[in-house]
Amino acid sequence: HDHLTGLLNRQAFDDEMTHAWLQREKDNNPLSLLLFDIDHFKLVNDTYGHPAGDDVLRAVADLVQASNLRRLDRACRYGGEEFVLILPDTSCENAKIVAERMRNRIATLTTECTGNVSLRVTASFGIACAGPKTDLEKSELLFRADEALDHAKSCGRNRSVTYAQMTEENSKSAPPGPKAAG
Ligand code: GH3
Ligand code: MG
Ligand code: MG
Repeated sequence: HDHLTGLLNRQAFDDEMTHAWLQREKDNNPLSLLLFDIDHFKLVNDTYGHPAGDDVLRAVADLVQASNLRRLDRACRYGGEEFVLILPDTSCENAKIVAERMRNRIATLTTECTGNVSLRVTASFGIACAGPKTDLEKSELLFRADEALDHAKSCGRNRSVTYAQMTEENSKSAPPGPKAAG
């Protein structure tokens, strides 16, 4: 476990992910990954100090743990102010619902912090899903969630984006390719 938050740590995430991936293949179920990152967190540390930042990280982790995850779901601190949830047997649509619920709860959470300040933060979410018959590699799923998270950040933060949604948007906004003459 991670000492600060009590969530599973990065090592445990890797192990749990390997297990969930094998189980997905066995059960023929979709597996979703939800990666989220607190917005402008450096500003929290810079303005209110690291101990206040630590309080916020703990409060967000507590909220995740209290959020009625399913028995086989796993919540981990990926590193710094990034968290990851492994959601077995969960479609992309349902992962998006989980993300939006968590995003809203984080945005309305007030943390009483060291230094006698009350702080509110928001978080951005990236979601990727591997369908039952996917030929994706396990590592690609995390990569896709990370790309979707980057997209959520660049679209203004405090939002959740699925990889599928992002690629669809990108294909719509791509300039039309060269057309054959005639
Ligand atoms: P963005 O919205 O783009 O994610 O911006 P950001 O400021 O959240 O991202 P950035 O990567 O610039 O800053 C992350 C900060 O998180 C910097 C680092 O000091 C802080 N951080 C990482 N781990 C901890 C921790 O355990 N405790 C505290 N207090 N701060 C941490
Ligand atoms: Mg980060
Ligand atoms: Mg951040």
